[in-house]
Formats: sequence, C-alpha cells, structure tokens
Amino acid sequence: MISVDAALAHLFTLVAPLGTEHVNLQNAFGRVLAHPQRAQRDQPPFAASAMDGYAVLGAAAIPGAVFTVIGESAAGHRWDGALGPGEAVRIFTGAPVPNGADRIIIQEDVQRQGNQIKLSGTLDKQFYIRPAGNDFLKGQQFDAPKVLNAQDVALLASMNAAQVPVAKRPSVALISTGDELVMPGDIPGADQIIVSNTFGLHAQLTALGAAPRILPIARDSRESLQTALELAADADLIITIGGASVGDHDLVGQVAADMGLNREFHKVAMRPGKPLMGGRLGSAAMIGLPGNPVSAMVCGHVFVAPVVRKMLGLPAMRAPTVPAVLEADVPANGAREHYMRAVLCNGTISALSRQDSALLSVLSQANALLIRPPHDGARVAGETVQVMPL
Ligand code: AMP
Ligand code: MG
Repeated sequence: MISVDAALAHLFTLVAPLGTEHVNLQNAFGRVLAHPQRAQRDQPPFAASAMDGYAVLGAAAIPGAVFTVIGESAAGHRWDGALGPGEAVRIFTGAPVPNGADRIIIQEDVQRQGNQIKLSGTLDKQFYIRPAGNDFLKGQQFDAPKVLNAQDVALLASMNAAQVPVAKRPSVALISTGDELVMPGDIPGADQIIVSNTFGLHAQLTALGAAPRILPIARDSRESLQTALELAADADLIITIGGASVGDHDLVGQVAADMGLNREFHKVAMRPGKPLMGGRLGSAAMIGLPGNPVSAMVCGHVFVAPVVRKMLGLPAMRAPTVPAVLEADVPANGAREHYMRAVLCNGTISALSRQDSALLSVLSQANALLIRPPHDGARVAGETVQVMPL
C-alpha cells in the first residue's frame, strides 16, 4: 500500500497536457485558457460619462450657475466640438466627454428651460467621469492557465478577444464492471442494482472540462472486460469502476495486465478507496477505481480531478483544501488517510454519522470531505482541520 500523495505522484507521471485548440469566446466558459491574452485596446477607450446629465467645466459648476446647452453626446455618437465658458453639452451614460468638460452634472441636479440649464442649490459632489483606460489599458495581460468563469469571459470579450486558445478536453472512457449492474431506466433482475458512480463520475468529469463517455457495462468475464477496454483504447484516460480488489470476480487488473497494462501501483492507504490502480494501457492512462459508490466518487475528487487538471495544463497538485473548525470531537484515525463525509457550514465542519462507503444518500448530503491524516490522534471540537469542499 502506498500513500495518497505517492499514488497521486505516480498518476501524474502517466499524463501530460494534451495541447490546445481555439474556440469562439461564447464556447470558452469552463475551458482552461491555455495562453495569456492581452487587451487589444484601452477600456473605456475615451473618457466616458458615468451618468445621464450635462458635461461642464468643473470650475464653473457652482450651485445656481446657468449654462447654455450647445450640443449632445450620446453613447456611440460623440459631440465633436470644444466647450467654451458658460457652455454645457447634454450627455448620456457611456458617451464620450467633450473636450473642455471635466464634470458631469447629473440631470436630477438641473432645471432646464429651452437651451438653458440652471444648476440646483446643492450639487452631487461626484464628477461622474470614467477616465480612459479606467478598467484596463491596451496590452494589459490576462493570465493563463486559468479555468474561465463567466466573469472572465466578459472581461476577455471587453478586451476584444473573439477567439481564445484553450486546452483540449481530455477524452475519458468510463467503464463500469459487474454482472450485477444495469443502466438507469433498465429493468433490474432480483440480484441486480443500478449503475450509479459511472454517472457521478461523468458529472464530475464534465464539471472539470473533460469529455467523458460512458461505455457499455463490462461483465465479470475476461472477454467482456477485454471488449470494453478495446472500445476505450482511443481515449486519453480510461477509468474502470469496480472489479479492482482481490475477489474471485475482480478481473480488471488481470485482464488489463494481459492487454499490456504497465501497472504503477495497486493499493492506496486511504478510506474509502483502498483498491485503486493506475498505469498506462496503450496510448491511454488508466485508473482503476473501487466499485463502492462513495469510494469511487471520493477517488474521483482525490485522484481523477487532479489528473484531469494536469491534462488540461493546470498545475499538478492535490485537490484544494480549506481549513475548518471541528463542530464535534472525532476519534483517532487508523493507518489510512480518511476522507469523512461531512457538512461544511460557515467555516465549521461536522462529520456525518454514517460513514459506510456504500451510502450515496450520505455522500449526497455532504458538501465536503473532512481529511484525517494517517495515525492522526483524536481531535476535539474547536480544533482546526483540513477539508476538501465538494
Ligand atoms: P467491486 O469493486 O466490483 O467488488 O464492487 C464493490 C461494490 O460496488 C459492489 O457492491 C458493487 O455492486 C458496487 N459497484 C461496482 N460498480 C458499481 C457501479 N458502477 N455503480 C454502482 N455500484 C457499483
Ligand atoms: Mg464487481
């Protein structure tokens, strides 16, 4: 048995970034920006009004002052003249501020008659001008690699990046194994259950920006497993689920080895999830996950996610954790790193009472995993521990 860190280090050696492709910005959400981008222009490109009102020379804007309105500057249609003493230009939000003006008097502070405006007795103190380049300057860098969120997409659009280079999505083949499994929606026999973690992993992988596909369930026979692995051969990453321990029907390791799996390790000192294997099979990396639904999902977070992130060009590192305060005492931990299903709320973490690795209902209630290092002593309420948000 090897440690979680050692297993992860092995898995990282199996994969490399897959290269990049260009996508239109509207398809960039959730993708990993591969190379830094630079703003193509200043934003705003000119000093712009932040309000609807009147552009004037600030020094002349004293309460009760009167100005003659000599033009209009609207968004997309600047007023091209220059402002003289006693003159104002009607202006709207986003419009260029005319030469000679340095303050916008909001329309609420003005009485207008014909082409004359009179300022009120008290004026809003703000000048309401956004200087050119206030948001960003031409050439400003947007860093990569980065998973693009909605805000990033908006910023890149504003920088005039119509297309962006993103990491290619790793194609991931998901193979469930077991005579007892049927697909959701099928009619199960008396001794059968519905495949679940394949779908959970598919969702995890989709959220990570991979391109997962679910292959037909492999039965607990050499032929069936071989067929499934052959179907998966073109994937960048093959993930098998179940059949990875040492039972008579646990054939994944044997069949994969016969097909040339270069197995790096087989067992990891963690709970849930001990029977984990990793290696290379042909041109693909392969990770064999345990079949127990919670084990498979936890291993998805602990191992598959960091591996996929590396394939996407992101730094090779453990899934991020945050500190949290224990709500109740937890007993000493054994030799395996324990990922307890837990609820994180306002910085406080509470382990759920049932920790059996077959209980998806408990995992679904959890929003974090409380990490207990190997041989960690008993911890009392109020102590700080590390947790992995789900
Ligand atoms: P195994 O590792 O094949 O011995 O499976 C361990 C447990 O997980 C057994 O109870 C299996 O029925 C269950 N199991 C295996 N694969 C899946 C799957 N894809 N979805 C749900 N349960 C599974
Ligand atoms: Mg099985």
